[in-house]
Amino acid sequence: MDPQRQLLSASDISVHFPVKSGGASGKSRRVSAVNGISFEIRRGETLGLVGESGCGKTTFGRALLRLGHGVVEGRVVFDGKEISSLDNRSFRPLRKEMQMIFQDPFGSLNPRITVGQMLQEVLAVHRIARGEAARKRTLELLDIVGLNREYAERYPHEFSGGQRQRVGIARALAVRPRFIICDEPVSALDVSIQSQIINLLRDLQREFDLTYLFIAHDLSVVEYISDRVAVMYLGKVVEIASSEELYTNPKHPYTQALLSAIPVPEPDSKRKRILLKGDLPGPMSIPSGCSFHPRCPVAKPECSRTEPRLLPQGDDASHPVSCLLYQEII
Ligand code: SF4
Repeated sequence: MDPQRQLLSASDISVHFPVKSGGASGKSRRVSAVNGISFEIRRGETLGLVGESGCGKTTFGRALLRLGHGVVEGRVVFDGKEISSLDNRSFRPLRKEMQMIFQDPFGSLNPRITVGQMLQEVLAVHRIARGEAARKRTLELLDIVGLNREYAERYPHEFSGGQRQRVGIARALAVRPRFIICDEPVSALDVSIQSQIINLLRDLQREFDLTYLFIAHDLSVVEYISDRVAVMYLGKVVEIASSEELYTNPKHPYTQALLSAIPVPEPDSKRKRILLKGDLPGPMSIPSGCSFHPRCPVAKPECSRTEPRLLPQGDDASHPVSCLLYQEII
């Protein structure tokens, strides 16, 4: 990809957690929640990241912003600068550039201070504005996210779920970021409110030239907002394509199963639901070979022995897929 178009590049990102093995030796071993993820995010685009709960989406997002636990390996380049090797002090200024909107807006807001105080605190901590300038900017931020200016005097518990998510967005925007990770930002909201928040995020993206990594398990929400979509399974990306290509021509059997579960408005639709066997295995018991093989409806014997790689597919190689069916091995 043209480096000028690329805002963030993640290369071979893994996140491991040490766990006690439980044996008499008392030794600990490593469990991988994210296993060798690589992709780029272009300036001004929304990259959707989808997969079942527990597949490592949020762990990956937090690792990019250094907000999670665990040991992170791999290389992250932001705006042409390698940032993964920076110490915490050198990384601090980047916190303004890279923000996160959380799934649970209530859990991420301090219940003891008003929303106005919270926003002013953010502006002061990041040395953006203090005093009257901070108060003025707070009111502007409330305007930007579609909240009444009088709400600056309210506490988080006085807001509805959708309003609290607007406050969470205002807090992220307060520092004028360029890149925002939206971590399941609408999954706790009613469907009617979900579309309002998604439309707000799209409007803000255009207005402030923002780039999003949009993490969700709901594929219909991701289709609506994303330019490209990456599908994750058990800590790995198994398919990436433009939103249009992925939803009309899914190649990986896991993506095909996920898409088959989306309700279709036409009652005469011939689309058949693909039911997956069993549950998502835990990170302690990742299957050998292709980790999807115990649930894959088209698995072959070789799938339990050989691990597929994420390799480009399609005429312009813009549709990488990790499945042996496309690698002339089976
Ligand atoms: Fe299914 Fe085999 Fe492809 Fe894995 S490699 S997705 S098990 S066909």
